[in-house]
Amino acid sequence: MENLKSLNAGNFQKELDKLLDGMVKNQETGKRLFLHSCCAPCSSYVLEYLRAYFRITVFYYNPNISFEAEYQKRVAEQKRLIAACNAQETGYPINITEGDYEPQRFFDMAKGLEDCPEGGERCFLCYELRLRRTAKLAKEGGYDFFCTTLTISPLKNAKKLNEIGERLANDYQVPWLASDFKKKNGYKRSIELSAEYHLYRQDYCGCVFSKKEREQNQALKNDTSVIKTTYEKTAVRKDRTEKTE
Ligand code: SF4
Repeated sequence: MENLKSLNAGNFQKELDKLLDGMVKNQETGKRLFLHSCCAPCSSYVLEYLRAYFRITVFYYNPNISFEAEYQKRVAEQKRLIAACNAQETGYPINITEGDYEPQRFFDMAKGLEDCPEGGERCFLCYELRLRRTAKLAKEGGYDFFCTTLTISPLKNAKKLNEIGERLANDYQVPWLASDFKKKNGYKRSIELSAEYHLYRQDYCGCVFSKKEREQNQALKNDTSVIKTTYEKTAVRKDRTEKTE
């Protein structure tokens, strides 16, 4: 009930703080967390933050990523980051499990929603596709919690992610760890850590539709700056002409 109240209020960070405080107070750190990760940069802060409390297994399952070379690049960065974190021994050791790369599952799910803008209905189904598999494996693996790094992104809907997580927790009978990792400067810290570890930061979310949307927005931005530049040049020329007349 308490859980539901916090969810409705959207106090995901408060809820997480309370749980972590309780774990420390009751000397219950070291529980097993099955953490879905979308990419190394987003997971960097989450791993730094949570490895003090949990034995984490990162689950890299992202059938949404186009294309395979991009997928391989992102998963390699994820593994490199985990190896670097483990070398530091500043918390519990981190493991990784790689899910299958099955892009057709994503395309089947996205049918009819190809033109949906990023952040809309297609994304909610994409969150669920990835979290459902995470919840299922967390249950099978006897984990204490499951969770996702996705809430760190300002472009992702944390409320929706937590709603889906709670629903799946109910379906699979495995506790969901509520989060809004962008809070407490989490997103900012992930940028700092990405620079520190020289992580590859992709410039589109993952699917081919988000890539197309990003390219269109970029083209529009460039067009605007061309117009602006031309406009500014004309204004400067006009100004010079007026001064010499
Ligand atoms: S934009 Fe990102 S979250 Fe949305 S469907 Fe594409 S890959 Fe999934």
